[in-house]
Amino acid sequence: MSAITEDAILAALRTIRDGERGDLVGLGMVSGLQIKDGHVAFAIEVDPARGPALEPLRRAAEKAVDALPGVLSVTAVLTAHRNAAAAATAPHGHGAAPRGASPGAGRGAIAGVRTIVAVASGKGGVGKSTVAVNLALGLAANGLAVGILDADIYGPSMPRMTGISGRPTSHDGRVLEPMQRHGIKVMSMGFLVAEDTPMIWRGPMVMSALQQMLRDVNWAPLDILVVDMPPGTGDAQLTMAQQVPLSGAVIVSTPQDIALLDARKGLNMFRKVDVPVLGIVENMSYFCCPNCGHRSEIFGHGGARREAERLGTEFLGEIPLDIAIRETSDGGTPITVAEPNGPHAAAFRALAARVWQLVGTDDARRAPPRIVVR
Ligand code: ADP
Repeated sequence: MSAITEDAILAALRTIRDGERGDLVGLGMVSGLQIKDGHVAFAIEVDPARGPALEPLRRAAEKAVDALPGVLSVTAVLTAHRNAAAAATAPHGHGAAPRGASPGAGRGAIAGVRTIVAVASGKGGVGKSTVAVNLALGLAANGLAVGILDADIYGPSMPRMTGISGRPTSHDGRVLEPMQRHGIKVMSMGFLVAEDTPMIWRGPMVMSALQQMLRDVNWAPLDILVVDMPPGTGDAQLTMAQQVPLSGAVIVSTPQDIALLDARKGLNMFRKVDVPVLGIVENMSYFCCPNCGHRSEIFGHGGARREAERLGTEFLGEIPLDIAIRETSDGGTPITVAEPNGPHAAAFRALAARVWQLVGTDDARRAPPRIVVR
């Protein structure tokens, strides 16, 4: 349908030179080229130390492609070039294991990171990121060394929720230093691309970004890394769940979504890839009136507890719908640190303690999950 071809794009990118070194295509710097209905996205792999200086190059590449007939939008991102092991561009893996010698190659443990837990949801807008960041801060409040990886590459929320702006730096030009705030380490696609960049990436590019944020970041030493997954349970999420060496997953749901089976989809996704589901958190569970403190259960309360039981998973707790939770996380200082003596912070610390009990203590330690290729 679309007139634009990969060849035409590569030809345009051959006109863009990285100084004296050569052109972008000739130098093998272009990867993850995606074309969808006239929308084009690709990565330019660069030495991370040169990153900031290469912004003009990135813009020139975008401009060259944008000028081609049939192109509606172009997104070029600078991405740290990968080492040989990870360099084979992954295929469009519909839930399949990564290509290469070993099917589990993308899933090896991360040195210096004791355990990794995903926070996921059946759909967007249920407060997954809010729970993820407060869980991370609750774990930190309980004395653990904590990181949070914002794997929501299409709609990263950690820059806003942690109040961090700016770009990560690198000491050695290879490994990125995570950002830090409120006592935790943070990495997000939001630090690497501008907020208004359209995220039309698919498959391989998303995976390479995730692998980079997982493996090319100086996370260690960490007791626990919380991964804020992209919302939903499609192929991209399934592949991600498969690519990250997860010890377990926490499903966030609102009462009405539990009734609508969205939480169940999340559960099934992790079961498919043999990642233990630690349990369900019911968010926006009931409403606390900011004026009188009255508690109203607008969505019918208690559904998650019953549903968790029926699904054979643990009910990990409930978080009320409270304007203070929204204001604090949208303002960059989530409730767990903004009001450490309040009831919500206590609820998140309790959630954190339970999660750590399930995955972090030595007797909870289990063999890494098996890869299942379907
Ligand atoms: P998701 O990650 O599931 O898309 P977010 O965590 O981004 O959802 O939350 C969506 C919006 O709802 C945000 O503005 C957030 O501040 C707000 N929110 C999340 N949980 C609560 C809560 N328990 N009480 C009030 N607002 C909340």
